[in-house]
Amino acid sequence: MIPAPVVYQADSPDACWFRHEILSWFTVNQRSFPWRKQHDAYAVLIAELMLRRTHARQVAPIYKAFLKQFPSVSALADAPADQVLQCLWSLGLAWRAQNFQQIAARIVIDYQGKVPCDRAQLLTLPGVGPYVADAVRIFACSLSGVLIDTNTVRIASRYYGFPTNDNSRRTIAVRSAITSLVDDDAPRALNLALIDFAALVCVARRPHCDICPVSAHCSYFRSGSPDHQPAPPNPHSER
Ligand code: SF4
Repeated sequence: MIPAPVVYQADSPDACWFRHEILSWFTVNQRSFPWRKQHDAYAVLIAELMLRRTHARQVAPIYKAFLKQFPSVSALADAPADQVLQCLWSLGLAWRAQNFQQIAARIVIDYQGKVPCDRAQLLTLPGVGPYVADAVRIFACSLSGVLIDTNTVRIASRYYGFPTNDNSRRTIAVRSAITSLVDDDAPRALNLALIDFAALVCVARRPHCDICPVSAHCSYFRSGSPDHQPAPPNPHSER
């Protein structure tokens, strides 16, 4: 008989304590990026499209210029292709310029120019995957959700002390572990906190456990010499 998968609960003492400590840490240590001041879905969507495999510090200066030049979905959809390409060139995203405009055109045609908050609808946009769709829902639509990527898998696996592999993010156990660290009360703050925590403290190589606010309950830290290797670096760790 196959054993039932482990399911991590958001109301467990370890999960509640983690969220409390991470939010306190985030209040003091959060990073500032122009897209974090945005609640407009188009502006959030553009940020998430730019941040895919691109460091946040590279995106920041281009982001503002892009929104100034293409301030709305329709402006982007109607813009000459060479203008969009030129704006994205310095980010090394020229090859994605067409995709930006395809997405904008689809939103104009299918959603009357308004970026949808429905996950299934977001996933119909060309090239938009679960991470970007969830980010738009959480950061622009104020909906609950959890961002699952290499970084959050790494944090949850270290904190709870389970090994990971390339398919970990698809398992019930790992998804429940990450979800338990981001409850429904403060999804925006907690997801941002995990992004910054992964970039500044629980980094892929040599995590800074000496300054970590959750080390007291962290399995990785308490084990002294973990028997599993951290996940490889991910560009999103810089976002
Ligand atoms: Fe990550 Fe170390 Fe903190 Fe554990 S103690 S969550 S491994 S930084």
